[in-house]
This record gives sequence, structure tokens and C-alpha cells, in this order.
Amino acid sequence: MNLVIHPTKRFPMPVFAFPFRRTSTALFSALMLAHAGGALADVSPLSVSGNKVLAGGQTASFAGNSLFWSNNGWGGEKFYNAGTVGWLKSDWKSKVVRVAMGVDEGGGYLQEAAANKARVKTVVDAAIANDMYVIIDWHTHHAENYRSQAITFFEEMARTYGKSNHVIYEVYNEPLNISWSDTIKPYAQAVINAIRAIDPDNLIIVGTPNWSQDVDVASRAPISGANIAYTLHFYAGTHGQFLRDKAQTALNNGIALFVTEWGSVGASGDGDVADAETWAWVDFMKAKGISHANWALNDKPEGASVLVQGASAQGGWSAGQLTRSGALAKQIISGWPGATVPAAGCTSVSTPPET
Ligand code: MG
Repeated sequence: MNLVIHPTKRFPMPVFAFPFRRTSTALFSALMLAHAGGALADVSPLSVSGNKVLAGGQTASFAGNSLFWSNNGWGGEKFYNAGTVGWLKSDWKSKVVRVAMGVDEGGGYLQEAAANKARVKTVVDAAIANDMYVIIDWHTHHAENYRSQAITFFEEMARTYGKSNHVIYEVYNEPLNISWSDTIKPYAQAVINAIRAIDPDNLIIVGTPNWSQDVDVASRAPISGANIAYTLHFYAGTHGQFLRDKAQTALNNGIALFVTEWGSVGASGDGDVADAETWAWVDFMKAKGISHANWALNDKPEGASVLVQGASAQGGWSAGQLTRSGALAKQIISGWPGATVPAAGCTSVSTPPET
């Protein structure tokens, strides 16, 4: 469990009026502990009800950024720091950030566990300090081959962060074109069981077949258990109405979706911005109340990168340092209607706009 009790902006410290007699010490301590338990979580707990992700029991959706692969030497790892996270919160109004922890590729977790895990924790701690949700993503196309390693990793994450409402577990980024029922679902169930033995409630997101497009397939045989959502990825230069139709089928079948990656460019991560199709997706996500994270917070010279090469790794980017897709992503994220609902029990809960 992370015990960083950061300065809180929304929770005035309570005033205890009762006298400090010895007999009241236990009650006082209990009240302080109860309040500390709430104040640790400066965002509302996420849950799933039907095909909706709820925040503090209310329909809400959030927009933010996915970092690039965390792997040593790939270039995107330099953005895994508190400066970047704080800038995304203050300047982009991002409410969620995703750590894409590379697993089996070169320089990833299997080869360089300590370095990759340290990056993950740096970003998670920064997100918590900035009152943002944070997705811990097991970023691989072959997670079923690394099930025991995934369980060990997510058990540690659950022990460290399971009491923080900010944290979301994403147990499989993008399966390839493999069987949901025979391969992905059993893998996910095993990892979910391990997480749930430690953390009974935080949101868990599960990747779906075919690069997290076949949410309709998953919706016909969903995983049993509480607070589980399913990954939908789209790249507007490649994916249009046919994929929104699959998403609508999944929603109709009653599963909740979370777009943990989207791009305004092609599915390769490169190519031109597809403006009209991107806005069609934005309209769809708004209408359905689906949260999302843009791929990717990086300066690699390819279409999906939001930054031009050489931009600071610590935030503070000028408009001229955003790429065309970066400027569009910032416009969409900073204008997203989702509200952060104050944590239940500490102050009044406002209802976010119905989307
Ligand atoms: Mg929990």
C-alpha cells in the first residue's frame, strides 16, 4: 500500500470539537484513520454496473494519455516521470494516464524488471499525487505465454496500490487474432483471481481478440466477477463504423468498455490524421460515456506521437512542440466533459453530466 498522503486540495481537515479526554482517544484515532482512509483516495472509486464504468457510483468518463512502451532504450521511457504527469494534468486537463509496461520485447520487464517496474511506480505515484486515474498496462501481444510473470507483477501492484482508488489494472494490452474462450479468457481469469485475492475492488480491464477490437466476441462470453471492463482500441485512419458497430454490440450485450488506446492516425501508429473519423469516434465515446487514453505520449517521429522530436521529457511543451495529432489529442482531452467526482464520504458528490 502506498502511504503517500499528499497535500489535498478538496478535503479540508475536519475540526474535532469534542474534548481530548483519555476516554475519547480511541474514538478520535478511529475518526482520524477513517478520514485518512478517504483522503488517501482523492478520486472516486471506479466500479462497473452493466455496461457502464461508474465513478463514486455515478456515470462518468475520463480522457487522458497513454505513455509509449516503457522498454529500456526505446525512447518513450524518458517520459515516465512526475514532470510529464503533472504537466498532463495541469495543461492538458488529463484525468487518466496509462503506463504501457513492455513485457517480452527487448528491454522490457522480462529482461529488465527493476528498471521497468521503477518507471511504472514513478508514474503511478505521480498520478496519485496529481489526483489522476492511472492504468497499469501489461503491454504485450503474447500475455498468455507469461502468465506466471503477470501474476507475480500484478500481485505486487495490488499489494502496493490496491487501496488507492486511482489505480486500474490492465492485464493484457492487445491479444493477436487468438481465441477468446480458449486462451485470453483463461489467462485473464487467472490473473484476475490473483489480483482479487489482494484487492477486491479496483477496476480491471481485459484485452480482447484481434488487437483489442473483438469486444463483441468477449461480450458473448464475459468473465464473471465485479468491476471488470474490456479493452477497445481504435485508430481512426484504419478503423471506422465497422468497429463502432462491434463496440455497440458489446454494449448491447452488457459489458463495459474502456478505450485504453486510440489514435487519429493509422493502426500502425503512423500516417496522416483522419480528422472526420476521429471526431466520429469522439462523438461515439461521448454518447456512450466511454473513457479513453490517447496513444502516445512520445516524441518518436511517427504520426501517433503527440510531441515533436526533442521536446522536453518533463512537460512544459509549447503549442509548436505538439504534432498535428498531438494538437488534436490535446483539444479532445482538454475539452472532455467528464468530471472528477469527489471521493464519497468526505464532501458533497456532484453529478457529472450524463453522457
Ligand atoms: Mg482496492
